[in-house]
Amino acid sequence: MKIADESVVSFHYTLKNDGGKVLDSSDGQEPLVYLHGSGGIVPGLEEALNGRGKGDKFNVSLPPEKGYGVRDERLVQKIPQDQFPNGGSDVKPGMQFQVNSPGGPMVLTVTAVTNGEVTVDANPELAGQTLHFDIEVTDVRKATADEMSHGHAHGPGGHHHG
Ligand code: ZN
Repeated sequence: MKIADESVVSFHYTLKNDGGKVLDSSDGQEPLVYLHGSGGIVPGLEEALNGRGKGDKFNVSLPPEKGYGVRDERLVQKIPQDQFPNGGSDVKPGMQFQVNSPGGPMVLTVTAVTNGEVTVDANPELAGQTLHFDIEVTDVRKATADEMSHGHAHGPGGHHHG
């Protein structure tokens, strides 16, 4: 069967940036499983998978607007270091904090610590990047009624309910 709304799709992927560096991959792991049409993966990848079938292999490059979005420089802020726990002495670039914002929980990544100021960035890590995916579709099946009502895939690689 071909991938369409109400398909549960399993696929292997390797994600590279413009420089060819591997950012993420399912290599050596179970394939990723998602419910097609549910917005469970980035929009451009869902578009690229539409109409494909089991065994299909392809490459697709997605501009930021079809991936994790463009960067918003308003989401970069400087915070006095002494507002962090322990006076901020433990804060280092690369650390991540989850904070509550009016729009819901946000992940802040520390990008710099200079002169008593901590620069934090709330953009998704891959915002503003062109994404290059190598894809191999390993399975396509029809979603169950439960999966449709939950809006996600169940079983290996999907959601597990206790
Ligand atoms: Zn469920």
